[in-house]
Amino acid sequence: ADQIRVAIAGYGNLGRGVESAVAQNPDMQLVGVFSRRDPASVTLLDSNVPVYPMADIEQYQNEVDVMILCGGSKTDLPEQGPYLAQFFNTVDSFDTHAKVNEHHAALDEPARKSGKVALLSVGWDPGMFSLNRMFGETILPEGETYTFWGKGLSQGHSDAVRRVSGVKKGVQYTLPSEEAIARVRNGEQPELSTREKHVRECFVVLEDGADEEAVRNAIVTMPDYFEPFDTTVNFIDEATFAAEHSAMPHGGFVIRSGETGTQSKQTMEYSLALGSNPEFTASVLVAYARAVHKMASSGDVGAKTVFDVPPGLLSPKSPAQLRKDLL
Ligand code: NDP
Repeated sequence: ADQIRVAIAGYGNLGRGVESAVAQNPDMQLVGVFSRRDPASVTLLDSNVPVYPMADIEQYQNEVDVMILCGGSKTDLPEQGPYLAQFFNTVDSFDTHAKVNEHHAALDEPARKSGKVALLSVGWDPGMFSLNRMFGETILPEGETYTFWGKGLSQGHSDAVRRVSGVKKGVQYTLPSEEAIARVRNGEQPELSTREKHVRECFVVLEDGADEEAVRNAIVTMPDYFEPFDTTVNFIDEATFAAEHSAMPHGGFVIRSGETGTQSKQTMEYSLALGSNPEFTASVLVAYARAVHKMASSGDVGAKTVFDVPPGLLSPKSPAQLRKDLL
């Protein structure tokens, strides 16, 4: 069978992840990368495909089955998504939870007009976590759903640490509180405050002559960012920082705790421990790009989310093969 032809719009962390993920899927083929930057300044990992100017993207309508959007959620996707849905089947990882319906509406109109499928908010959260929250509350209607994040690198909180005077380098990890998770797994259905669900851990390299206690105090008392949490600050040297704090790990848990029938306690749990957040997110995008291709080929149109995609469509296997191997 012919390979599914995919292209990447926007080449950052996620774009690189998609490049690697496509290479792991023999039924798919990367045909190009589009960037707003000068193509000559964009170096791909190891594919031999052209980098094109984003401004020319319309010209490639007939050469791409699915465009995978790898721009940022804040300003890129709200603009690029509706524009590209006029020409391509698309998948994006839009993660601004509060604006999901707005983004859905903005994509639905152009996608219906062009007869394309525009799949939004794919990844792990939103994405795989969303599906598992839905399974939980649907299967166990009487219960509580909990989402815990971490251990994960938080970009915004790391930036806040780096702005503290005396900090040369800094990162911040969000960790789920072990105690809170234990209570949830135990079926207690506790009401948990923000402070109780997560703790924050910082690793800092000090500027020469900076004072540890002053830096620690400035961090843990920072309103909104750190004050509402139990925050620990660890001081390390530059070599340790480079060796142990250059990756982008993330992950977390979705737990549904409920009761059925004769007060039986039932717990459903889905967990992710990700060595690289963008590479995993990209792997989810690529699997869903396959589903989008199948949906579009069978005549489906409009904006979709993970809730609208039959799970078997993610797989390169036929329905019969899936039944035989995995049912
Ligand atoms: P990046 O900042 O790495 O990339 C975003 C865009 O910035 C790229 O598309 C690229 O566009 C541009 N860019 C990248 N590198 C450079 C550079 N050196 N100089 C100038 N511009 C550059 O973001 P990520 O790839 O890490 O994340 C993208 C989005 O993915 C996030 O905003 C987040 O919302 C979402 N996400 C969703 C998840 C989920 O589970 N749903 C999980 C993780 C992320 P161009 O090539 O056109 O210049």
